[in-house]
Amino acid sequence: MRNAGTSPWTAGNFFAAYPIRCRVMRCHGHGRCTIVLVLVILGMSGSAPAEDWWTTARTAVAERWSAATANVPASPSTIPAVGSIQVAFSPSGGATETIVAALGEARQRLWVQAYSFTSAPIAKAVLAAAKRGVQVTVLLDKSQRTQQYSEADFFANQGVPVYIDDQHAIAHNKVMIIDGGTVITGSFNFSKAAEQSNAENLLILRGNPPLAALYAQNFRFHLGHATPYQPRHGRD
Ligand SMILES: [Zn+2]
Repeated sequence: MRNAGTSPWTAGNFFAAYPIRCRVMRCHGHGRCTIVLVLVILGMSGSAPAEDWWTTARTAVAERWSAATANVPASPSTIPAVGSIQVAFSPSGGATETIVAALGEARQRLWVQAYSFTSAPIAKAVLAAAKRGVQVTVLLDKSQRTQQYSEADFFANQGVPVYIDDQHAIAHNKVMIIDGGTVITGSFNFSKAAEQSNAENLLILRGNPPLAALYAQNFRFHLGHATPYQPRHGRD
């Protein structure tokens, strides 16, 4: 079953959110938001089975509404250290395999926030999650529009929603939030270089709902000012 987001989808919510989305995207009512909304729905419909189309579209709209109304979380925040922490280092410390295994746990929702995304094994695990019904959203730095090798096109051409956050010098987060409960973070970019060449660290934090909620709020905040990614190539 797909996750419908934190805000229930109702016509009232949509029309209440519409002017907020306009303000966030600075379109001043000339329809840019509507165009983006239609593109999101059409983009989502590209690969979804017919029977899931409406559910997928509703989920996408609800997610955009939630993002448009999100505030940046209080920072710094201190919350109890509970749950478990899985740690991996690179080079060659199994970080990629650890992420792929964690992605296999996703059942409802997967949010990906990355500066660079060039790792084929991780991209395949993200797509596998989407294909088994997990609601996946990928949010990338603007460099992915021009980087020669990026999984952004792979995702977009497979119908996975991809957005670009170009509101910062660099959008440097490397975060995944799985089912609103597991947080993957650290210096580890989702890239081959991070696995094989770089000195990186990776944390997978489970069983700490307040922590996951903070990361989810931060994700929503950035998604709220992001724009849909336009793939540069045909279907990969
Ligand atoms: Zn941002």
